[in-house]
Amino acid sequence: MKVFKFGGASVKDAKAVKNVKRILDLYPKDNLIVVISAMGKTTNALEELIASHINQTDSNQIYHKITLFHAEILNELFPNKTAKIYRDVDQFLQQIKKILKEEPTDHYDYIYDQVVSYGELLSTTIVSAFLNENGIDNNWLDARKLIRTDNTYREGKIDWSTTNKNIKSALSVSQNSTKTIYVTQGFIGHTAEGLTTTLGREGSDFTAGIFAYCMDAKDVTIWKDVPGMLNADPKWFEDTEKLDEISYKEAIELAYYGASVIHPKTIKPLQNKQIPLFVKSFLQPENEGTIIQASNRSDRLVTSYIFKRKQVLLSISPKDFSFIVEHNLRDIFNTFHEHRVKINLMQNSAISFSACAGGDRFRIDALIEDLSRSFSVKYNNQVELLTIRHYDQDTIDRLTEGKEVLVIQRSRQTARIVMK
Ligand code: ASP
Ligand code: MG
Repeated sequence: MKVFKFGGASVKDAKAVKNVKRILDLYPKDNLIVVISAMGKTTNALEELIASHINQTDSNQIYHKITLFHAEILNELFPNKTAKIYRDVDQFLQQIKKILKEEPTDHYDYIYDQVVSYGELLSTTIVSAFLNENGIDNNWLDARKLIRTDNTYREGKIDWSTTNKNIKSALSVSQNSTKTIYVTQGFIGHTAEGLTTTLGREGSDFTAGIFAYCMDAKDVTIWKDVPGMLNADPKWFEDTEKLDEISYKEAIELAYYGASVIHPKTIKPLQNKQIPLFVKSFLQPENEGTIIQASNRSDRLVTSYIFKRKQVLLSISPKDFSFIVEHNLRDIFNTFHEHRVKINLMQNSAISFSACAGGDRFRIDALIEDLSRSFSVKYNNQVELLTIRHYDQDTIDRLTEGKEVLVIQRSRQTARIVMK
């Protein structure tokens, strides 16, 4: 069994969906689990929809934009306007509408998951129907019924043992020669009470990793709009290099520091079972791409650099000019944890603790407000955090040129720089 993951860009319009079919046609013999994200920028649009619902501004316009976007794809993929898929899609859209009719609760994260999950439900329903109509028989699976999480909405933590049981019993691989294809959603799961959760933005990769782990897949392929894992983000840099082969460990480091190609949680379960992970181009599916596996023989061949933008650098010190000691650190970490703000880099001196963090601005503002009760807090907005793996001084100089360096940390393999 192989696991494929197609992200939003690979199903962003009708042409892209047809390309997914073309890729599946290249694997006529394999049993497949195909994990798909919401189409194009649907998740962002659904986020806007929730924001307008919560702020009680007019959500009609954005709702129509989402409806229209999917209708256009449907029209192009399904010439028969009486096909069942039109009713299936409409049903999901009506369900979204129903949620929006309810009084907005103040539990933002909960509402978010209930609404945003429809992006994946819509996309997988459309792709599955299109494949079935065009000679690729497949079964659509509701990932909400399989992936069990706790009730940390917007960042569900996986209950591995229940998820494993659910997936193993729902997916059977036929032992005879008939080929089995499953199509399912990335990113979404459910709580023990049956309420929908999501795994965090870009979490579909992680879903692919979960299915692969539970089914002891032969390998996983993440199909991307880039030729593989690159040493820098091609959005910002011209001369990027592809990493042909890297180890799980290196991939975890790169993803953790913010290389946006793979969701950081994806790799660990694969490493645990030694399942290779390929990152390949959905535009050139025949090309090699990147392979992520156990051997680290090629890890140091290429210098990689990763930018995290829109970061805040906080500097936190006791109000009474005393030193930063363990109990201060404990309180500071607790406050970060309560506000669900992740620390991307930290450093302390005698009288202050500095942390570089990103993510939702409202979380950071609430964190600063809370910390300010007990500490004096200074902060620098809009800083960048640069990580260079396998660095050399030339690369550091080149990438920090013209910038004000606020913090620099070096370990043997990695240089990390907060700059403005
Ligand atoms: N659709 C979700 C997102 O855009 C999950 C994913 O794409 O992996 O964040
Ligand atoms: Mg996406």
